[in-house]
Amino acid sequence: MITPRAAAHATALPPARLPAYVHDLDALDTHARAVRAALPPAVELYYATKANPAPELLAVLAPHVTGFEVASGGELAHVRRTVPGRPVAFGGPGKTEDELRLALALGAERLHVESPHELRLLTALARDHPAGPAGRPVDVLLRVNLPLTDGERGGAALTMGGRPGPFGLDPRDAEDCLRLLRAPLRLRGVHAHLASGLGAAAQLAVARRVTAWARDLAGRHALPGPLEVNLGGGMAVDYTRPQERFDWAAYGKGVADLAARHPGTVLRIEPGRSLTAYCGWYVTEVLDVKHSHGHAFAVLRGGTHHLRTPVAKGHDQPFTVLPVAGWERPWPRPAARDEPVTLCGQLCTPKDVLARDVPVAELRAGDRVAFALAGAYAWNISHHGFLMHPAPTFHFLPRAARTARTPRTA
Ligand SMILES: *Cc1c(COP(=O)(O)O)cnc(C)c1O
Repeated sequence: MITPRAAAHATALPPARLPAYVHDLDALDTHARAVRAALPPAVELYYATKANPAPELLAVLAPHVTGFEVASGGELAHVRRTVPGRPVAFGGPGKTEDELRLALALGAERLHVESPHELRLLTALARDHPAGPAGRPVDVLLRVNLPLTDGERGGAALTMGGRPGPFGLDPRDAEDCLRLLRAPLRLRGVHAHLASGLGAAAQLAVARRVTAWARDLAGRHALPGPLEVNLGGGMAVDYTRPQERFDWAAYGKGVADLAARHPGTVLRIEPGRSLTAYCGWYVTEVLDVKHSHGHAFAVLRGGTHHLRTPVAKGHDQPFTVLPVAGWERPWPRPAARDEPVTLCGQLCTPKDVLARDVPVAELRAGDRVAFALAGAYAWNISHHGFLMHPAPTFHFLPRAARTARTPRTA
């Protein structure tokens, strides 16, 4: 569950450097390469930056992805700085006028338009902008909120679409937007990010529906091709089975079939969590172990102000115990043995729980714990300021030099 090099690094850190976020960039490189290889070459892979915008991760991902999806002006500027020259797609509800201006100034390659008002505003700003009518066109995709069947929604952890919500356009408004479209805006296609936490079969069902809807729209309005269909992200990460991964092979095969059925269509995906979750661990130490009314509790240095993921998603964050031998104190070492333990943080709230009632063989004060799947939606979604504890330290284990090279063919 933790790579040997990440475990070795986590074990060697002095206690004063805990908690620590340890990232294995080699593991990320290998995983991203495998994801890319499972997809047909023509399918574009964007990384949803909001999952984890750490520059070290973006640099490792850059050679494997077509571009980066950003959801704020901050992310847009960050990606332009960190991985300059890589295509960006800017989406998200509630873009401010300043953010739209920034997108025009930085030449964001794609803008995902989420409402008729936003389309009008962007058109007005683009006309005023120096890169406006005389300059290059502003390429947009309409983000639509298409209905999902129960089967398609089944198992989704979060749904951004398929039901009433602030994300994207009602399909009826999409038709109105087509009538509002004016130069310098140029419609390139449709974007739909409808649910997250779907397995490959459900993702493919959604992909087929979105593509069929987009082709139908393009046909009715005689849009010039090629039609771009951004199928969104949301490929499942299973926090209850951290060794399992989304079935990229089955998904790749399914989107290859889909692309073959719709020639003249560019398919694009923009996963976040399923790319970076596996490369990060939140490592800390057990400060105390106690029994309260028959239940064992381990109190850890740090907590959900560093790793909010288990609270945000309502799960137990999977973890590995890294035993630390030796106990210097003259009194007995607090411990839990062969029993379920609840792992809590230092915050003065009963919500500061990272994992609840998880059976352990042994967990003692001074042992270390490495929480897995902490490479995405972890530090960056957490409420760091609460209680003024120190921040964790951050570690990015570099990629091992690759000596074996693929021989070039003439
Ligand atoms: C968050 C988000 C993604 C990425 O979702 P994951 O579940 O991390 O794969 C992709 N597209 C949009 C529009 C998003 O908001």
